[in-house]
Amino acid sequence: MTLSRRDEATAAAPLVARIGIAGAGGRMGQALIDATLASTDLQLAGAVDVPDSPALGTDPGAHAGRTTAVRITSDVDAVVKSCDVFIDFTRPAGTLLHLAACARAGVAAVVGTTGFDAEGKATIATYANTIPIVFAANMSVGVTVLAQLVEDAARRLGTAFDIEIVEMHHRHKVDAPSGTALRLGEAAAAGAGVDLSEHALYARKGVTGERKPGTIGFATLRGGDVVGEHSVIFAGTGERLELTHRATSRQNFAAGALRAARFVAGQRAARRHGLFDMADVLGLRQSV
Ligand code: NAD
Repeated sequence: MTLSRRDEATAAAPLVARIGIAGAGGRMGQALIDATLASTDLQLAGAVDVPDSPALGTDPGAHAGRTTAVRITSDVDAVVKSCDVFIDFTRPAGTLLHLAACARAGVAAVVGTTGFDAEGKATIATYANTIPIVFAANMSVGVTVLAQLVEDAARRLGTAFDIEIVEMHHRHKVDAPSGTALRLGEAAAAGAGVDLSEHALYARKGVTGERKPGTIGFATLRGGDVVGEHSVIFAGTGERLELTHRATSRQNFAAGALRAARFVAGQRAARRHGLFDMADVLGLRQSV
């Protein structure tokens, strides 16, 4: 058996957490497996996917030419019990089942899945009464800072500037607008002092009439292999301010998710529970 980089580095770095990964055959699952195998303080303890996944039974390191002692399984409870932190980038229905298993086993969770409705978000918050959970629609450092800049800009610019949010993702993305665009909408609404649910406009078609003041508009583009691009546009009279983030690979999301995993492992070790986001993980909550 080939030694993983974790095995080779065991003597040098203390183990922070054993990691279980859901959606192991997916795009983010594979990026998370790569990042975990490349880390020196995290150990890949298990990997799960749905029963009809072609990845089932395979070595999770295989796509990167690596050999591990793990095989991808559909036995969620077994994987959850083998780890300290369970990382989930799947679909809302799967995430909620996975969190139920984490709550039963007292295992911390990192959730990057998007597309939850209000009920799904409330269910996540309920599980956070038992275990520590980091839940963030975007795990990148850049987007976490962007959300703070957007809130600040909306507060400073005031009602004279119209707010529009434009996002583009790859052709396989299944939810719209992206969870990140919605998060940026919430940040803009918070800065403007309004409720997003009462001011969001998700589509325009036909004779729409003039723009309603105070609206926060969303536009969604899908195509190709775009990892994720978001712009928040503040359009005033005679000037326009645009704040843009471009993700060029999934590595930044995976790196952020592993930082979140280390953070919740610490919360679990301290016997704390609660719902956290990336501003908590990065220590940025009070910075703007
Ligand atoms: P993907 O389609 O490539 O992979 C999804 C994986 O989840 C697959 O392995 C699939 O078999 C599995 N899956 C599907 N339905 C499931 C279910 N009901 N139960 C359990 N597993 C299920 O998708 P992806 O591009 O890897 O994205 C996954 C999720 O992560 C999406 O919601 C996406 O929006 C989100 N995402 C979040 C971030 C972030 O930073 N938070 C970044 C990128 C993607």
